[in-house]
Amino acid sequence: MPLMQGYPYYLLMGSVLSLYMGISSHKYRKTPGRRYLWNLMIIVSLIFAATAAEILSTTFAVKLWWKNVQQIPLFFSTLFTYAVVKDYVARPPGGLSKRLFLFSIPVIFDILLISTDSFHHLMRSHVRMDTIAGISGISVQPTWLSMLFIAYDQIFSLYAALLLAIALVKAPRAYFIRNITMLAGFLIPVVTIFVLPLLKIKITGFTAMVILPATLTAYFTIFRDPNTSIYPLAKHKIFENMKDGILLTDRHDQIIDINAAGEMYLSNITGHSPGTWLGMSIHTLLEKHWNIRMYYKQRQEGDFEIELPEQEGTCYGATLVSTERNNVNTAGMLIIISDHSDKKRYERELVHQATVDDLTGLFNRRHFMRLVENHSIHGGAGMALLLIDIDDFKLINDTYGHLAGDQALLAFSERIQHSYRNKGIVGRVGGEEFAVCFFASDEWGALEEAEAFRATMGDHVVQLNEGQTIQFTVSVGIAYTEQHGATFEDLYREADEALYLSKATGKNKVTLRNQPIIRNA
Ligand code: GH3
Ligand code: MG
Ligand code: MG
Repeated sequence: MPLMQGYPYYLLMGSVLSLYMGISSHKYRKTPGRRYLWNLMIIVSLIFAATAAEILSTTFAVKLWWKNVQQIPLFFSTLFTYAVVKDYVARPPGGLSKRLFLFSIPVIFDILLISTDSFHHLMRSHVRMDTIAGISGISVQPTWLSMLFIAYDQIFSLYAALLLAIALVKAPRAYFIRNITMLAGFLIPVVTIFVLPLLKIKITGFTAMVILPATLTAYFTIFRDPNTSIYPLAKHKIFENMKDGILLTDRHDQIIDINAAGEMYLSNITGHSPGTWLGMSIHTLLEKHWNIRMYYKQRQEGDFEIELPEQEGTCYGATLVSTERNNVNTAGMLIIISDHSDKKRYERELVHQATVDDLTGLFNRRHFMRLVENHSIHGGAGMALLLIDIDDFKLINDTYGHLAGDQALLAFSERIQHSYRNKGIVGRVGGEEFAVCFFASDEWGALEEAEAFRATMGDHVVQLNEGQTIQFTVSVGIAYTEQHGATFEDLYREADEALYLSKATGKNKVTLRNQPIIRNA
């Protein structure tokens, strides 16, 4: 019977195949729904190998030894089938490995009884060598106690099949085909274990053979499933080398796929470095970002910006895409994270250039104007606009040079900024002309304020780099209004007229409306 001559080698091929699947799924051992797959594959590989060894051995003692060795992976295969299915359909947050350990205790006990000479008879009433179809293997007659252990072990297979069947009922269309394929695969060993004795098929290693369909379907449906994995969809290399962080979460909000950039960005944003984010909850990322969390929870799509207050200039963009648009309950989310720091820096730079004067760092005329227009009057206080012009500035330039003039402008800006930092808005509205806008209870308050500033400027000494010093005075024009509708132009014109009067009547003075006041001048 040439077909059966190759039988042990078919078993060995099964072993190699399962071993390959075990190794390739080992990489994904942290992905929810795939965590126990690699264990099951290795266990099945061992069943095949031990069975082949049993058939290929020549003496009864060695055959029996392999038969006993085979019992170890055989018993554990049902436990791990249960673990695979449980993780796949229910994805428990934790505790499954602890449960597995507890469930293993009777199995370990059973294996100990089988392999201990003095207790062996408790488990098997007789052991003999059978040759069927040219295959000689060990045939055992289990005792009632042994049957009890086998029944205990089989409960896990049955339970796994039941879990899958229940999941089938609830599963959305996308999951239906693979669940039913997997269920069919898992049912083969469960059914045969009951049907084989009835059919009286006793070929050694048949048990191993019937496990193979379950292993193959589990591998191809869970591990290769395109719906829960980015890998088969996007070329692995492109995905891994993308500058954008890509992460995929499942309906339980666990990260089931993530690329290298995604790992890096998540660690940077959250401040945690778990080694890998695979299998972690996405809520670690979302807990501080309530707006993204709200969208995420409702599986709503959107674009967000994540700024990190502790890392100045770092900014990320996050895009949410739902994996199933019309089914919130089963949908996962695709989250794309990009580094927006450069873009943001560029934007800030543009805004800065458009609003701030290069030399002094004060607001430029246009931005100052815009700010004043938005500075509405409130609480009964009026708004004062001071126009401040440095007296005889041309003379400073002519005497000390343009660079010294710049230095004087800078020193003046610092001074005015310092004086009004918390009180009002300061801008450079012309070459050596500055403006301040602030709230004052009445026009006399504004006048007092302006006069105080003018007086301090008269005493201010600017130190030049070359060791020289400059002193200058300023002339000020004030406009004051308590009207809500007053425009910037009206205020500016009034202040400009007042400033003109300050200049025309001798400089170094403050003018409110048409009344220059002279103090300490
Ligand atoms: P007044 O008292 O009437 O205001 O006389 P003034 O000399 O200050 O006024 P004028 O408008 O005649 O001259 C202003 C000068 O300010 C002329 C210009 O060269 C100088 N200036 C304007 N912008 C700058 C600048 O950014 N740096 C320097 N160093 N000088 C500037
Ligand atoms: Mg001037
Ligand atoms: Mg001027």
